[in-house]
Amino acid sequence: MDKTRESDSRKLLGRLKAALAEDSAGQERLDRITTIISVSMGVEVCSIYLFRDADTLELCATEGLNPQAVHKTRMRIGEGLVGRVARTRRPINAADAPAAPGFRYMAETGEELFSAFLGVPIQRLGEPLGVLVVQSKQSRAFSDDEIYGMEVVAMVLAEMTELGAFIGEGAALAPLHRRAASFRGGIGQEGSAMGHVWLHEPRVVVSNPIADDPHEEMRKLDDAIETLRVSVDELLATAASADKEQTQVLEAYRMFANSRGWRRRIEEDIARGLSAAAAVEKQQTATRARMERVPDAYLRERLHDLDDLSNRLLRILTGQGRETGAEMPDDPILVASNIGPGELLEYGRRKLKAVVLEEGSVASHAAIVARAWAIPLIVHAGPITSEALNGDLVLVDGEHGIVHLRPEDAVVDSFRDKIAMEAAQQERFVSLRDKPAESPDGVRVRLMMNAGLMAELPSLESSGAEGVGLFRTELQFLTQSRVPRRGELAQMYSRVLDRAGDLQVTFRTLDVGSDKVLPYMKAQDEPNPALGWRAIRIALDKPGVMRMQVQAMIRAAAGRKLTVMFPFVAQLQEFREARQLLFREVERERRMGHILPTEIKVGAMLETPSLAFAPAQFYTEADFISIGGNDLKQFFFAADRENERVRRRYDTLNVSFLNLIEMIVRRCAEAGTPLSFCGEDAGRPVEAVVFAALGMRALSMRPASIGPVKHLIRRTNLASLRKVIDDARASGAQSVRPAVVEHLYRPNNGA
Ligand code: PEP
Ligand code: MG
Repeated sequence: MDKTRESDSRKLLGRLKAALAEDSAGQERLDRITTIISVSMGVEVCSIYLFRDADTLELCATEGLNPQAVHKTRMRIGEGLVGRVARTRRPINAADAPAAPGFRYMAETGEELFSAFLGVPIQRLGEPLGVLVVQSKQSRAFSDDEIYGMEVVAMVLAEMTELGAFIGEGAALAPLHRRAASFRGGIGQEGSAMGHVWLHEPRVVVSNPIADDPHEEMRKLDDAIETLRVSVDELLATAASADKEQTQVLEAYRMFANSRGWRRRIEEDIARGLSAAAAVEKQQTATRARMERVPDAYLRERLHDLDDLSNRLLRILTGQGRETGAEMPDDPILVASNIGPGELLEYGRRKLKAVVLEEGSVASHAAIVARAWAIPLIVHAGPITSEALNGDLVLVDGEHGIVHLRPEDAVVDSFRDKIAMEAAQQERFVSLRDKPAESPDGVRVRLMMNAGLMAELPSLESSGAEGVGLFRTELQFLTQSRVPRRGELAQMYSRVLDRAGDLQVTFRTLDVGSDKVLPYMKAQDEPNPALGWRAIRIALDKPGVMRMQVQAMIRAAAGRKLTVMFPFVAQLQEFREARQLLFREVERERRMGHILPTEIKVGAMLETPSLAFAPAQFYTEADFISIGGNDLKQFFFAADRENERVRRRYDTLNVSFLNLIEMIVRRCAEAGTPLSFCGEDAGRPVEAVVFAALGMRALSMRPASIGPVKHLIRRTNLASLRKVIDDARASGAQSVRPAVVEHLYRPNNGA
């Protein structure tokens, strides 16, 4: 590295440090920073553009451009050179800017005078904050050292967490981490909750980005890397005998911890004046930016490892992180970028009020756990982890998929009213608990609950469910680091049956694959996992686990009834094979002298369109059928249930889908085979009454939905509703929803 540049950079950072330490108002400080940079770099212009919102940048300070343009000039991301830097998050170095592709002339700034342009992104750990620009009259390309120096300065700017304060007219607005913010996301689980933020992985704050003494910072880095290396070695030693994949990951860590390139880049940044922690964070920001660009999944995983390693190093250097000593609030709302089911379960059911994830998906494991706990869950909730601080007030509106962070008082007040109204409504549903779900025209519908964890079973009593229509057995597998043993499973299934007493429990055999990847299962590299090797397909190809699982079920149900169903059956033959497998195990248990269940019912989930059209024998051979609407709908409409963009595009009450449901109802009736519906739609009151009007006599749903669904069934004349549905279908409507809703909510007509 060029020594002169190195000391220039240190001098510049030294001046910035002094400016940051000054007790001046925000805007004044930002202005001063632009002056310092332009003087130090020998350029006429230095400007700072910051994000106003996710799409718009605003000129917030400038030395050299027209001062009148500050807080006036705005551009969209991708627009002009500045917008392009923001979008690509890479520097643009143009000797002749007006001739560069994408240049946009902004008359109000007076920038036509300047030829050379260098813009670098201001970002913090993958969170884009703005763009730092220098311009000069003289046409020249900036050197690599200058670009590098600007990146270091941008890093220091990014650490000024109050950057958000400079947006808008003057510096009147509240700083980024103090202002109110809302995030719209996908609904993983409905419900409303009010509480305080608890970050799953609290952000590490680098409070001192500029170092006084590079030698001292180098020493800190050496010590921290040594500590890191020892801890990785220790982890490796304890994991050595454990599973191979874990060891591989740790080996990769060790490789990075010893990687010269990674370390050299950090050292170079320290030499330029950054503190050790800021230099590590700068590398981490670069890694995250790369991670977003790399299409190769393997490489992305390795970058993810590197990111994780930087995180560990940062925690060592700052002494912060998980063990920050912060106290969990009484009403915690967990905020995380993503979380696995095991980690979520560690928090325990009673503790959390809601979960908000930046990533995740509606059908993710965490979503299944949150649903099991009946706490609201929002997924894809924007950049909330970088905005939220531990202890912030947060409102989760699981009905509309909105999270209000540090809300204004008026929002809090109306949210309180909403929660009170919901509570009052729940009270009304409680009074229905022991009443049957029977329509005024005498149709009785069985309402059951879905479950997957032992902890959910108390809901059987409180919700008034008439049994468990779907017990998702994979949760037990997802929350462990190894395949559960037969004895453990048998014990758990037995406890489930004990708890259910006389009520029926329908165990679904293991439904893994697609998004439900077991921690100890080798992830399949499949182009379309939802259409891939999953559920019954795995069970039939590699029957070991399913055999063990059904043995556990048979033992758990010794001397009582056993009800089992197979997931994701696409054709009759698969159902026959799975059933045979089960009865072979029954025979084996009998030969071994074990007590057998008194009755065994074997059914199938109907969640592929092909099964709806299966030979009539399927309908007669199955003891019962349960429609898995979540999957059936995604395959019927060819719309990925995990893709928020297309998930809601096709209405469940779409005429085509209802025609399919009606055909299944008819074929089951002809065969005399009981039918139920256990997808999420069964828990939505309007959908539920439509299914009932089409002839469905059993629905299985999350416990919290039983009250609202029962309430509507008890008020809806299903024969009249059927007529409304038929008329809407005859009219050529795409969905019967408008007609149904109009009918249901017309005075004296129910609801
Ligand atoms: C379904 O597909 O509707 C279903 C109930 O199963 P899961 O959501 O577990 O895939
Ligand atoms: Mg399914």
